[in-house]
Amino acid sequence: MRRMKERFEEKAYDVIVVGGGMSGVCAAISAARHGAQVALIHARPMLGGNASSEIRIHISGADQSLKQPDYAEGGLLYELMLANKHCNDQFSYSVWDAVLFDAAGKEPNLRVYYNTTMYDAEVEEDVITAVLCVQETTEMRFRFTAPLFVDSTGNGTLGYYAGAEFRIGSEARAEFGEPGAPEEANNERMGNSILLRGKDMGKPMKFYPPSFAIPLSEKQLAKRIHCPSMKQTIDCSDIPDPEEFRRTSMTSTTGCDYGYWWMELAGSGEDIVTEYEDIRDNLLGYTYGLWDHIKNGNEGVHDHGSENFVLDWVGCLPGTRESRRLVGDYILTENDILEHRQFEDAVCYGGWCVDIHTPNGLLDFDKLPSYPGFFEGVYTIPYRCYYSKNIRNMFMAGRNISTSKRALCSTRIIGTCAIGGESVGIAAALCAKYGCQPRDLAPDHIGELQQLILRADGFLPNIANEDANDLARDAVFTASSSRSGGDPMQVVNGVSRKLGEDWNGWVSDGISENGETLTMTLPGERTLSQLRLTFWSDFRYPIRVTMAPNRQRQQRAGVPAELVKDYTVRLMRNREVVKEITVKDNYQRLNVLDFEDITCDRAEITVHSTNGHPDAVIFEVRAY
Ligand SMILES: Cc1cc2nc3c(=O)[nH]c(=O)nc-3n(C[C@H](O)[C@H](O)[C@H](O)COP(=O)(O)OP(=O)(O)OC[C@H]3O[C@@H](n4cnc5c(N)ncnc54)[C@H](O)[C@@H]3O)c2cc1C
Repeated sequence: MRRMKERFEEKAYDVIVVGGGMSGVCAAISAARHGAQVALIHARPMLGGNASSEIRIHISGADQSLKQPDYAEGGLLYELMLANKHCNDQFSYSVWDAVLFDAAGKEPNLRVYYNTTMYDAEVEEDVITAVLCVQETTEMRFRFTAPLFVDSTGNGTLGYYAGAEFRIGSEARAEFGEPGAPEEANNERMGNSILLRGKDMGKPMKFYPPSFAIPLSEKQLAKRIHCPSMKQTIDCSDIPDPEEFRRTSMTSTTGCDYGYWWMELAGSGEDIVTEYEDIRDNLLGYTYGLWDHIKNGNEGVHDHGSENFVLDWVGCLPGTRESRRLVGDYILTENDILEHRQFEDAVCYGGWCVDIHTPNGLLDFDKLPSYPGFFEGVYTIPYRCYYSKNIRNMFMAGRNISTSKRALCSTRIIGTCAIGGESVGIAAALCAKYGCQPRDLAPDHIGELQQLILRADGFLPNIANEDANDLARDAVFTASSSRSGGDPMQVVNGVSRKLGEDWNGWVSDGISENGETLTMTLPGERTLSQLRLTFWSDFRYPIRVTMAPNRQRQQRAGVPAELVKDYTVRLMRNREVVKEITVKDNYQRLNVLDFEDITCDRAEITVHSTNGHPDAVIFEVRAY
């Protein structure tokens, strides 16, 4: 008889991130970029969680589907989306997977353990000492140790194993006085969903349903747009703002090309996590039943316009909207959102509507699938929502952060999860640097954290660049030309994006044959080793990967035309060039130029071309 060999390894890191959805990816990469040695433990073969090719949810954010584009998420998320836009104008989810794989693989301080599931945690005196994991593809088991952990599992699984305090379901209105909360607390939750993709074959195609398809009738689908032809109107009169509801495509993202986000089931037991597999089987049944209805069951009510359509893809791994919310030192509420509260320790912001779904999802046939509470503007999220109240060395990132149910209805949106994750990654690296627990970063290092978030091209409402190490802030900026409102000194006004009519940056007056030059004159000789330049990309044009044709049509081909493409930086001392760097074919908003120490008194940034726009726009110049 053969004996099983033990395949087991111990690994130690500064920071261990569990769960590689967009929040975990951003947490892991940003912690690594800020100096920590990081492991990302991820159960799946591709990164991105719900935004990956397995589930295919497109990334939304505080811009509220372009209603307020000034508030689009910047930072690492935008960098990843630009990298994708550069090579993936075909909206391929496999290519998007590759972009994330590439980005994580390029970080020298980060190691991703794919196909690796964390199945338990060791805890001593409210401190996680290790997580236990298995990598099924290699039959390896691991024990990972670290002083700091990030739970970005979506379900709050690490917190659950570690004994962290958590909440599920809705709070009673009396608890926080939230206008949308129910009178009594309950365990209602938004459900899990799978998407599908239909394809027009240009000729009639038949559909033969599998035996597990669960039939759906036209009456049951009256509140859900499902025709590929889109020849269906639904009655939205029972919500406060039906027009906005239609405008944001909440009735249906589009026809069957994207699938149906309302194909949603929440289960019937106490815990949606334990019901996941039953829900999945039922979702598959209803999804194929829906397709059978679309193809074969128009019941004479209206023409589904589906004759030429086939099923091209059906998700097999449901995405989850709501499960555990881990409790931190603060619980964000609907009131904080509606009042646009500005927290002193703000490290993130959000702006998606309070988008609550009907509790039984698809099975609430007589109700609209979502009852969104629209608002204008953005709110901030405090640092205290991102670490556990009782597990001392655990951060949270993503939809499992510390919020009420009503607040989750807005914060769960991927853009918000991702930028929160990036902030958590920076915070974790700071904790590693100072040898402290997450709670101990406040109050002394919150300012430093906020400044590092901005430095990485993040945005925090009403917080400007005040980085004392940034030598550009003492410099004088002049330019070869500038348009009205685009004064060169604005590159150091502390804000690195256009807000309303305020350019907050230098805008050249066209680009001449010799290029247009922005000159930074330092107050004397300074030793520099890094310049950080932030270019305009125009947030009014989305760049995300999406299956939805109407969302694809909003996009322009290629990388944003406004981005500076070719430029040269000359560092000068006493009018002599001491260093010259030329960048070609840029497609990123934030450009970080690292070089060996150079003593200089001036820098000239000459823009030779953009990716199509007639003017050169630079929002921010930083010098270190
Ligand atoms: C059908 C549907 C439609 C939606 N529509 C939108 C939309 O249009 N726009 C939008 O922005 N948001 C939308 N959302 C919400 C959004 O997708 C989620 O709230 C968001 O993805 C949460 O991100 P996350 O990083 O917290 O978690 P996830 O994206 O769930 O990622 C968590 C990852 O952690 C991994 N993991 C979990 N447990 C472990 C473990 N024990 N060990 C290792 N790895 C683990 C999982 O495999 C997963 O990949 C939708 C959600 C659903 C379900």
